[in-house]
Amino acid sequence: MSLLVIGTLAYDTIETTTEKRTDVLGGSAMFFSVAAAAFRPVQLVAVVGKDFRPRDLEMLAKCGVDTSGVEHAEGRTFRWSGRYESDWNTRHTIETQLNVFEKFDPKIPPAMRGAKFVFLANASPVVQAKALDQVSHSTFTVVDTMNLWIEIMRPELMALLRRVDGVVLNDEEARMLTGERNLLKAASLVLGMGPRYVILKKGEHGAFLMGSDVHFSLPAYPVGKVVDPTGAGDTFAGGFMGYVASQGNIAPKTLRKGMLYGTVAASYCVEGFGVEALEGRGLRDFDGRYDELLGIVTP
Ligand code: AMP
Repeated sequence: MSLLVIGTLAYDTIETTTEKRTDVLGGSAMFFSVAAAAFRPVQLVAVVGKDFRPRDLEMLAKCGVDTSGVEHAEGRTFRWSGRYESDWNTRHTIETQLNVFEKFDPKIPPAMRGAKFVFLANASPVVQAKALDQVSHSTFTVVDTMNLWIEIMRPELMALLRRVDGVVLNDEEARMLTGERNLLKAASLVLGMGPRYVILKKGEHGAFLMGSDVHFSLPAYPVGKVVDPTGAGDTFAGGFMGYVASQGNIAPKTLRKGMLYGTVAASYCVEGFGVEALEGRGLRDFDGRYDELLGIVTP
């Protein structure tokens, strides 16, 4: 069934302990789209500036992403820069330049408004709410967010949480949102804020899914060499939503299998800068690691 994503397309500057790269293709909707498109075509709504390289949109189209909802605005593309410490879990945002994203007023093309599966990728909750206003009769709407928005737009985010079916958060965001250190308790508190499902991502320690009819936990896929974890969360969401949308239902078993595919997608993402290790991966790659992961967690 149709899968729609709204979020950022970006050029990132990333510093790890061994390397620094500038203008790396990224953005929440970029990672999501590339991962989800391995399962089914993705419809993308986003904004880019005049500096966005045509070949980056061509790459998305080649992956199976409909980019007709990408707006080209005057100005520069969204930019984010961050630095990782040697443990990979500690990330410092050095700068966020909203650029064309600052005035982004998402317009979902009429043909995309009936999407059954909708992912509101990390973006301001105001933009996310405007996008949600335009979709009707979706089966499963999931939202992602980050520390910046929890800090500066908490009321808008709380209002949005009452309107969605699911939310994905990392451990730090869940603690910030709820004020609770224990992640199980934090997940319960998030469920009390509106969504029926919550996915909590714990970086290299895996992820869990909680809802009234499902509680499922997974370790991360063991990656030999992490190169750049940027986008792992969005990629996880892409693998998860891509699989779930391809099944067309949100039965507990589908959601659990989606968690495995999300974990596998994220494992490819962290093996390169930006989407370089993820693009070009097909279902055959995903299924290979899916079976390996199953082998690791099954007695
Ligand atoms: P993740 O590592 O999953 O948190 O995603 C990182 C990606 O999110 C990067 O490619 C950034 O360009 C993008 N990003 C960073 N900050 C924001 C923000 N405030 N809103 C939307 N996207 C962002």
